[in-house]
This record gives sequence, structure tokens and C-alpha cells, in this order.
Amino acid sequence: MLNNVFGLLPEEIELSGDSKLPVYRKQQLLTWLYKQYCADPDKMLNLPSELRDSLSQRYSFVLPEIQTRLKASDNAVKFGLKLEDGSIIESVLIPEARKRTLCISSQVGCARACSFCSTGKMKLRRNLEIHEIIGQIIVASADLKNTEAEATRLSNLVFMGMGEPLDNAGNVFQVLRILQHSSTLAFSPRRTTLSTCGVVPGIIQMADSGIKAKLAVSLNSAIPTKRDQLMPINMQYPLTELKQALLYFRRKSSFRITLEYVLIPGVNMALEDLKALKRFVGDISCKLNFIPFNPAPASEYRAPTSEECAHFMQQAQSLPQAVTLRKSRGADVLGACGQLRNHSKEENIDE
Ligand code: SF4
Repeated sequence: MLNNVFGLLPEEIELSGDSKLPVYRKQQLLTWLYKQYCADPDKMLNLPSELRDSLSQRYSFVLPEIQTRLKASDNAVKFGLKLEDGSIIESVLIPEARKRTLCISSQVGCARACSFCSTGKMKLRRNLEIHEIIGQIIVASADLKNTEAEATRLSNLVFMGMGEPLDNAGNVFQVLRILQHSSTLAFSPRRTTLSTCGVVPGIIQMADSGIKAKLAVSLNSAIPTKRDQLMPINMQYPLTELKQALLYFRRKSSFRITLEYVLIPGVNMALEDLKALKRFVGDISCKLNFIPFNPAPASEYRAPTSEECAHFMQQAQSLPQAVTLRKSRGADVLGACGQLRNHSKEENIDE
């Protein structure tokens, strides 16, 4: 089987056996891949035909295929993408003023079984390959280029789609190395966020490896018994170990930590929840993001009302860290946090 060209660092790509090829040919190829989002060697017309043939013989150029494209009322776009083995994954493009954020998937399904998350209900089917993760970015970038009037590029990347990125850390870290390479997208590490449910060895590995990205941790409760129920990973890596890992990350990395907290009424919005949260975050330098829960069909939890969120946020002002209430995007196409799953077959295609 041929290696997919989108899974390789520029220095790993060999153009042909001809050592006399000018060096600029590789940059021409990379421009087609990462600036034009072109995955067809036959269309790379400034490359000699022998080189195009050689590339087709050496590498696969297959990208995920857009199966569904759903546009939410807030203009977020959810892509249902079909992979070569028929698996369907989802990614969500979120426009906000001049920002274009892509929320990408790292696995087909997820083993971590958080009780509020649709992806967790699928269980883990497999890890995504490097080129399948980068493919989501190329496909969304091409879509932006074709649908927006001005030349607009992706500005932010968040690994918050399907799957736990630190359960596929080897591939995810290599994706970041490729995307941040000066000859590909030169994607800004400060605009890249990797979100984990709290895989402690992965957080330590990320801090030690020098991988450049911001870290988000989905916390959702600082009461151990409650977090056990919401996020079974808490039984494997309890809050005390998670806190040590976060302090370690802060010492080793210059990148910011954000703690994410999904607001679920009747579950984690009481005064005792806030007090436990305050004790947990005490000396961690971080930001706190609160996100109103978005129910998927058959969810056992409900969304908070705006009054419930306002009341909670008023009390959360007593926390010493910066706190924000994040608006959910794409909820009416099940594209918001915790809603991603292969729903595509039951839904309408936009446009
Ligand atoms: S919230 Fe994240 S880690 Fe938890 S089940 Fe869903 S995808 Fe997996």
C-alpha cells in the first residue's frame, strides 16, 4: 500500500529517483498540497509530466470524502467525512468575525465513555492515521476557499472532535509537527489547542516532548465521586494525579492551560460543585471555560437555561482565575461539543 503524502513531513517526501531534480520542485508540490489544497497530481501543471507520474506511483493522495455538509443557523458547518475504509468521522468549521476555527477528530469513536458525550457511546473503533487528521484540515480549507468571497484561511485548530487525542498521541503529535512546518501551513502553535479528558501520561508526554500547542482539560467536576460518574477516566487517573500533571505541564511548557467545565443542571452547578472546583484549581495557573451542555437525542441530561448559567457565572466570579462562558456553536446540526457522532445518514445535506 502506498504512503499517503499528507501523512509525511516535507523531508520525508521523495519526489523521484532522479537526483538532478531542482530543489524548488518539492516546494512547488508543497504549495499545491498546502496552499492550493490540491490532491490530484495531474492538476499540478507546473510540475513536469514525468514527475507527476512518478508522484502518483509513489504516493497516495486520497483525502477524506465529504459525505454531508450541514450548515447551522449560526453559520457553523459540520462535515461528515468518509474515510477509505468506509468509516465516517465529523469535523466542525466555526466562523467568528475574522476567525475560522476547525474542530477536528482524532479517532473513530472513543474509549473514554464520558456520560454526556455522543462519541463516547460509539466506543472506540480505531485511531485515525496522520493523513486522515490532516485530511480534515485540507478538506475544510478547500471548502473555505470555495465558499467564502474573500481569501480566508483557517486561523485556529482545536482537537475537540471525535476521540481522545492523547489516546492517539503519536499520530496527533506528528500531525502538529507537519502542520507547524514552515514549508506546509506553518500553523501557529498558539492557535492550536489539544483537548483531553485527563490522560495523565499523555499530558506528561506532551510536556516532555516539547510539542507546541495549548492544552485544554475537560474537568466537569472536582468532586471525585461525581467525576467518576461523568468521566470514567477519573477512576484511572484521579483528580489528585491530574492536578500534579497540570502543575508539571505548567512548569515545563510555556503554553496555556484551559480547564473546560460543561454546565449540566442538577449535576455540577450547585454551590458545593463550585467550592470543590475552587479547591481543585487553587494554585494552577489556568483559564476556566464554562460551556452550557448541549443535549444530543436520548441524552440523560438537559441543557441549562440562560438564568441558570447567569446565576452560576455570577458565583464563579469568586474564582481567582479568568472565567468565561463559552457559547456553543453548531448545536442545531448536532455539531456542538459532545454531540459529534455519525449522525450523517439521518440528516439533510446543506446546499
Ligand atoms: S468527551 Fe472526549 S474523551 Fe469523553 S467520550 Fe467524548 S470524545 Fe471521548
